[in-house]
Amino acid sequence: MISDWQSALKRLTLIFLALLLAGWLIGAPALVVLVGTIVYLIYHLRQLRRLYNWLRDNQNSEPSPPPEGRGIWGFVFDGIYLLQRRERDALTHLRSIIDKAQESTGALEMAVVMISNKNGLEWWNPAASRLLGFQSPKDRNQPVTNLIREPQFIDYYGKGHFSSPLKLSSPVNPALMLEFQITSFGDGERLMLVRDISQLYRLEMMRKDFVGNVSHELRTPITVITGYLETMLDDRQSIAPRWSRPLEQMYQQSQRMENIIRDLLTLSQLETRSASKQLSAVQLQSLLREIKQDAEQVSQDKKQVFQLDCDPDIYIRGNINELYSAISNLTINAAKYTQAGGNISLNAYTTRDGLTIKVTDNGPGIEAHHIPRLTERFYRVDESRSTDTGGTGLGLAIVKHVLARHGGRLDIASKIGDGSQFSCLLPADRVLTAEQANSRSPAG
Ligand code: ADP
Repeated sequence: MISDWQSALKRLTLIFLALLLAGWLIGAPALVVLVGTIVYLIYHLRQLRRLYNWLRDNQNSEPSPPPEGRGIWGFVFDGIYLLQRRERDALTHLRSIIDKAQESTGALEMAVVMISNKNGLEWWNPAASRLLGFQSPKDRNQPVTNLIREPQFIDYYGKGHFSSPLKLSSPVNPALMLEFQITSFGDGERLMLVRDISQLYRLEMMRKDFVGNVSHELRTPITVITGYLETMLDDRQSIAPRWSRPLEQMYQQSQRMENIIRDLLTLSQLETRSASKQLSAVQLQSLLREIKQDAEQVSQDKKQVFQLDCDPDIYIRGNINELYSAISNLTINAAKYTQAGGNISLNAYTTRDGLTIKVTDNGPGIEAHHIPRLTERFYRVDESRSTDTGGTGLGLAIVKHVLARHGGRLDIASKIGDGSQFSCLLPADRVLTAEQANSRSPAG
């Protein structure tokens, strides 16, 4: 480029000197230089016109080869042509990427929906039309909450907490169960992925029904067996002494089975019944006091010390039986696993985020690697200790379910040798003051 420019300057200087010489020879240097300058100008104007015509002709079509040019003009023509070609190539490449992305998402079974920062539908694939009934182009730019009107979806979408997916039946076909997953990106835009999980959902329902039905069917025979064994043990003198020990063991095991069936039924009800909408205002202090008394009874022989600390003004909007079952499971566990003479405390307090109910003991503690698995069904840290104490391995699974139905969660902290702390965390919208509770129908 520099050499082009320099040779053009050199040429111009030479022409100027030649014109000056010719003008001097004929005795009119100014006139000759003026004529030369006009010819020079006309040449450049012509080149400029060729450039203008070429650019005009290229505006709406594929770039055609540039006009032939020499020197600096040849360089300008070729340079513009090269830039145009590069831009076209980049555009073609981008277009092919977009085409490929659209083609591949078009073939997906999963619905893919792009939502603008004004919540309008920007783009969706054919699966979205099939699963959600979106119609093109009618629904373009329509707010997504106008097209999926299910209150559960509107609530989920509005809250903007998308860490866990939402399960909902399809707005166009109630037989289809869908799983919605939303991710925020860019400048407030959202990508919504919707999966058909009907098959999985049916299997899950079958599993829940099966466990529920089996537990229900087993309850009566086990109750009969336990009843007869109890009667026989009450009348020990009429049975041969060698049968006394086997009968006692049979009675213990049938009681254990009864407990397992009771807990399985509770779990199955928590899983299959939808959370009650008619919730009562539960006075937490009296609920905890009742639980404390029950636990004291259970651990009478161990002489453990129970403490309770709870403001009488705290009320919970919830299901009293479920809450009783959850907190009582934690307290009875604390009593079961803590040594004789140990301390167990129940305390509850409100924070800005909601309510915390803590059950703390100074028992043996739990090793850290067990903690994430404690709420799994039948997971026990120490099989023999748990069965000795009449444990079913289902208690903490029940606690987890109950808290989830109340929008809360269980937090477990423990240190070997120091004890354990089980905290029930409930969201602020579950906590009522005494005044609010009195304006409802109080229970508990
Ligand atoms: P289980 O009926 O066996 O008590 P849970 O689901 O209630 O079943 O508890 C699961 C396991 O967690 C128990 O088997 C026990 O090992 C452990 N665990 C629960 N609570 C405590 C506690 N307070 N201290 C020590 N270990 C505990």
